[in-house]
Amino acid sequence: MGDFTPELGEDQRAVRDWVHGFAADVMRPAAAEWDEREEFPWPVVREAARIGLYSLDFYAQQFFDPTGLGVPVTLEELFWGDAGLGLAIAGTGLAAISVFTNGTDEQIGTWVPQMYGDADDVKIAAFCSSEPDAGSDVSAMRTRARYDGARDEWVLDGVKTWATNGGIADVHVVVAVVAPELGARGHASFVVPPRTPGLSQGQKFKKHGIRASHTAEVVLQGVRVPGHCLLGGKERLDERLARARERARSGTERGAAGNAAMATFEASRPAVGAQAVGIARAAYEVALDYARTRVQFGRPIIDNQGVAFQLADMRTRIDAARLLVWRASWMASAGKPFTSAEGSMSKLFAGETAKAVTAQAMQILGGNGYTREYPVERMHRDAAIYTIFEGTSEIQRLVIARAVSGLPIR
Ligand SMILES: Cc1cc2nc3c(=O)[nH]c(=O)nc-3n(C[C@H](O)[C@H](O)[C@H](O)COP(=O)(O)OP(=O)(O)OC[C@H]3O[C@@H](n4cnc5c(N)ncnc54)[C@H](O)[C@@H]3O)c2cc1C
Repeated sequence: MGDFTPELGEDQRAVRDWVHGFAADVMRPAAAEWDEREEFPWPVVREAARIGLYSLDFYAQQFFDPTGLGVPVTLEELFWGDAGLGLAIAGTGLAAISVFTNGTDEQIGTWVPQMYGDADDVKIAAFCSSEPDAGSDVSAMRTRARYDGARDEWVLDGVKTWATNGGIADVHVVVAVVAPELGARGHASFVVPPRTPGLSQGQKFKKHGIRASHTAEVVLQGVRVPGHCLLGGKERLDERLARARERARSGTERGAAGNAAMATFEASRPAVGAQAVGIARAAYEVALDYARTRVQFGRPIIDNQGVAFQLADMRTRIDAARLLVWRASWMASAGKPFTSAEGSMSKLFAGETAKAVTAQAMQILGGNGYTREYPVERMHRDAAIYTIFEGTSEIQRLVIARAVSGLPIR
């Protein structure tokens, strides 16, 4: 593990430039069309797979980059290209992270390759935790997983919502309740293999932004999966539940930090922050160019401090957000615990930055900023999700407040 440095090494610069090329040449020209179509952009994802950008190899290489910066650098460039298309390419990563964080080596080796497929047969995956009555409050989850010991199978029943790639994915990872009396500590994650009977897509959502990314309900009716689809295995689950029961009995319960969905979200928050940085940077660049060339009152509008200072603030916030994201990414890869919720800090600040900066960019473009002739309108719609998914900004603040105070703030 290297020391933290904000100076990218040669390998990371090469990756950044390569992904940037794809973002500029393939994603940018296609972005408006797929935003309007509101369909999963298979041709773009297939092109990413063809050049090796959408692939397990590339994903694993970035995920295991010892500096921790491979993933945020890649995601910033992809989402600079376009957020809807970016999420279509990166969405599988959330399901893959849940297998990396909760699965055994054997499960990682079995399932993660099936989530990506290969260039000739591209696959995608979905991570399904949220439910209609369990969004921020993960402990209200109702989807049940019951063990059928006679057949060594788990049976899943419930309704998941807001699942990115839900219903169209080849592999779904589903978080379900195995021990209702333990609240959020009684959850476990299951892989649902391709074409498993009983899993179907419910409503597909029509969204404000990231419209090229598919978001839908996933209905689970008597879905039977083999015992080996329980991530981490039954022995580890039984030990974890026994410890949780013991803590509950002795009154030393420490909240939900150790549950399956939370482990996935903790690991993925800096990555989501990196996506937000990419959107913010894209909008800032458009606004900077526009402010230099748009003439009013006989001079470029950037000659006014009122505009130039906005750009100065935008750039400062973006750089600060990136530094928080890189710090958290480095800490995660160096195995340093987020004792002050540094992952949540990075996602909170980057998400709020993307929302604010894209709004400022629209303002700087005036009437043009409000039209679909210019991309900042789309970027602003896309940015809005970054204060909502992977934990809303309020929930990030709750997590940070609890971490820094040590108190059960509500
Ligand atoms: C486009 C999209 C893609 C998504 N992808 C996925 C996915 O792939 N997998 C998945 O599992 N989920 C996914 N989600 C779900 C997402 O993570 C949830 O929407 C999010 O966690 C918020 O839950 P909720 O929508 O139920 O809002 P609620 O929890 O109902 O919150 C509503 C409001 O109340 C506030 N609030 C709630 N509790 C508190 C509190 N204690 N203190 C202060 N404020 C509070 C919230 O901050 C929010 O402002 C996705 C959502 C969207 C919109």
